[in-house]
Amino acid sequence: MAAGDLRDGRIVIVGASLAGLRAAETLREEGFTGSLTVVGDEPHPPYDRPPLSKQVLLGRATADTTELPMRRAPDAEWRLGVAATGVNPLEKRLLLADGESLPYDRLLIATGTRARPWPNPAEGALDG
Ligand SMILES: Cc1cc2nc3c(=O)[nH]c(=O)nc-3n(C[C@H](O)[C@H](O)[C@H](O)COP(=O)(O)OP(=O)(O)OC[C@H]3O[C@@H](n4cnc5c(N)ncnc54)[C@H](O)[C@@H]3O)c2cc1C
Repeated sequence: MAAGDLRDGRIVIVGASLAGLRAAETLREEGFTGSLTVVGDEPHPPYDRPPLSKQVLLGRATADTTELPMRRAPDAEWRLGVAATGVNPLEKRLLLADGESLPYDRLLIATGTRARPWPNPAEGALDG
């Protein structure tokens, strides 16, 4: 890869959900022609979460209808069902839970957030 050539090289995206998928699509739309790998710890292809607490919860849709629409096929290698466990920034490698490691030139972390319990249990137990 020529120095500064941002359209080539190896990009690894961690997190195969809304942000990871849209990043992969956008990279291709913007002319990235290098190798693209998306790593996700869930076994499913990217799915839309909001309907889960609305239409799916109300029984008006099933979970298997929530797959996220793709704007374009991002021509990526999908590594689903395996978590990223660490990064070796000196060797530029992403470490995976299955013992493998993936080389990258650029790494995008799109792992979202997780709900955490309120730190004070008494306050957390309040109604509502
Ligand atoms: C039930 C529910 C209802 C929602 N309703 C609404 C709504 O009505 N309106 C609204 O605006 N937003 C809503 N949201 C929020 C919305 O879904 C999120 O804002 C959106 O999904 C964020 O996308 P993201 O890609 O940044 O993160 P996420 O969707 O959280 O995706 C992150 C992905 O990274 C994966 N990951 C994490 N760590 C690792 C790792 N170490 N290795 C590999 N993969 C990893 C996670 O498993 C996950 O698949 C809702 C969310 C939920 C859960």
